Amino acid sequence: MTNHLIGDATPSRTEPAGSPAGNPGLGFGMALSRLLAYPSMESQMSSRKTALVTGSTSGIGLGIATALAARGSNVILNGFGDATEIEKLRAKLAADHAVEVRYDGADLSQQDAIETMLGKAIKEFGAVDILINNAGIQFVAPIDEFPVAKWNAIIALNLTASFHTIRLAVPAMKAKKWGRIINIASAHALVASPYKSAYVAAKHGVAGLTKTVALEVATQGITMNAICPGYVWTPLVEKQIPDTAKARGLTEAQVINDVLLHAQPTKQFVQVSEVAALAAFLASDEAASITGAIIPIDGGWTAQ
Ligand code: NAD
Repeated sequence: MTNHLIGDATPSRTEPAGSPAGNPGLGFGMALSRLLAYPSMESQMSSRKTALVTGSTSGIGLGIATALAARGSNVILNGFGDATEIEKLRAKLAADHAVEVRYDGADLSQQDAIETMLGKAIKEFGAVDILINNAGIQFVAPIDEFPVAKWNAIIALNLTASFHTIRLAVPAMKAKKWGRIINIASAHALVASPYKSAYVAAKHGVAGLTKTVALEVATQGITMNAICPGYVWTPLVEKQIPDTAKARGLTEAQVINDVLLHAQPTKQFVQVSEVAALAAFLASDEAASITGAIIPIDGGWTAQ
């Protein structure tokens, strides 16, 4: 798997070999033409891809945002959290990778907030070239005790928000004849587990949305895929352990070993960095022929 630089018009930040400064033998005309050929900071900015990563203040989304910034994309962060911490995160990502990093705190359960976020992103950057639909929540309860408000919240964020971001991002991608849409679904887009009715329904919906839109935009330089992680150790997993213990009458240690890792033949949690590397590859030019794919990264879970 190649770690391809996204926005590959971007030059290395070291001086190019044979630069005027390093080679006094170059004639003035040659030096001038080299200088003119060297992209200005403004053109570097405009040649960069822009990535919007929803739910990127934590967990998998933060890992993907970091991987994309490291490969040269401008990044729009989104998600909830402490304002000071998020600003520190934003500034560090920008400084570490010399890219533009913005933050938009839109609540993606709200259609109007999504519309405002996409409108602003497209106005500022011209397009969202790489759209990562990652924000998600979980709730665990038997169906006859499942709170209606939790069902509605999970469907709104884990499924409907992606419909909105995709429909709003696609026109500018079509205009540029290039786009990458990556939905962070789940092994639960392929198989079910008890007590997760809303989450499993939403993630199966994301798989269907992925395949459908991939077909619609296939001839226009736009790919759309779903990544289906098994259990990744993030706050989302950590938070569901007490409720799963309650629903199944188990201790929390039993939930980790006998429920979560029981599903994964590797008996290991998937690493955030592994999911991020896969997303970065799918966002690269080399992945142009991968579209409509529902890709497990689950330690063998769904092979069973
Ligand atoms: P996380 O809880 O660490 O992060 C979730 C992110 O979503 C946070 O940034 C949070 O602020 C944001 N968010 C929550 N509600 C939001 C809202 N209304 N609007 C905008 N942002 C909101 O979770 P994670 O484990 O990193 O999960 C990320 C994605 O990966 C989810 O879609 C999840 O379903 C999926 N996933 C996770 C696992 C896992 O084991 N962790 C496995 C498979 C799939």
